[in-house]
Amino acid sequence: MRLKNLNGRPIIVVGGAGYIGSHVCKTISSKGGIPIVFDNFSAGHEHSIKWGPNELVDLRDSQATLNAFEKYKSVETVIHLASSIEVSHGENFPSEFYTNNVLGTLNLLNAMKNTNAKKIIFSSTCATYGEIDDVPIMETVTQNPSSVYGKTKLAIEHMIESFHKAYSLDYIILRYFNAAGADPEGDIGEEHDPETHLIPNALEAAANGKLMEIFGDDYDTIDGTCMRDYIHVNDIAAAHINSIKAQENGLVSADINIGTGTAYSVFQIINMIEKVTGYNVKYKICKRRAGDLSKLYADTSKAEMILGFKTKYSDLENIIQTAWNFYKNKNERFNPKK
Ligand code: UDP
Repeated sequence: MRLKNLNGRPIIVVGGAGYIGSHVCKTISSKGGIPIVFDNFSAGHEHSIKWGPNELVDLRDSQATLNAFEKYKSVETVIHLASSIEVSHGENFPSEFYTNNVLGTLNLLNAMKNTNAKKIIFSSTCATYGEIDDVPIMETVTQNPSSVYGKTKLAIEHMIESFHKAYSLDYIILRYFNAAGADPEGDIGEEHDPETHLIPNALEAAANGKLMEIFGDDYDTIDGTCMRDYIHVNDIAAAHINSIKAQENGLVSADINIGTGTAYSVFQIINMIEKVTGYNVKYKICKRRAGDLSKLYADTSKAEMILGFKTKYSDLENIIQTAWNFYKNKNERFNPKK
């Protein structure tokens, strides 16, 4: 599918100040659209909003959410990425996760029901599948999430399907695998606080000689560490443009994996980080992290067939190189003028 110009079209991006959201906004803008960011800035950063207006909106506040939608009455399409994401935190604080993710999205859907916004593209996750023996994972397998995070995302998928049936809300659920890498132009990148993800943690360890933790080396995988499907964040962003176009062309409902179809182990990632940075990564093996699954990677045929989606940036070396460039860019030691 060709990515035609978005022609000044406004698109609400909920969670647009976050890691994936900011890359989505930049991509929308580069295609001629106007991203309108709704964010409560609990995890996102104001400095990541550069391509359109923004509203301070906390989805847990139903009236504030409705008011924000009333302000942008003519907008038809909503991309929803706002969510608590840290898997192990969810295990200890499920109430927070269900409130932020499920209640927040219910308020969002209710606001959409009362306004013009009748199309949603929702950022779901491979964590909704749970431990699946049959990899690559197809969208048709029974979803059985084991983490609180995955359960909240699956509950949202169900809510969206119900709103589709009852209120004709068009939806595309994108089940992302592991978002990684950074904007090749260095504008934006991964800046979680606290940072829990493998690649930024391993880059930090490479740069500072700090000891990083590897959560388990006794999984049933090639080297005992967990394997994931790392997809460049720019490719994930591009999948949203394909989704907007697919909805324009009449797609009313779909759930689609967004991954590369290849899995890498924690050790393979560390090896690539050592190659790209030229530094050693020191680590210690720790016990398994709560909620982690051994091996997840996507069957990508549905994304290709329905969205015409193919990755362009997700070569592992490019993922690590762009993440490393961003790390150096924001780190005084490598960039003393900042
Ligand atoms: N991981 C690790 N050390 C870290 C961060 C992550 O060993 O400091 C492992 C984690 O256990 C998982 C993989 O790296 O197996 C990917 O974790 P990440 O948090 O990046 O993504 P997730 O798959 O949990 O969304």
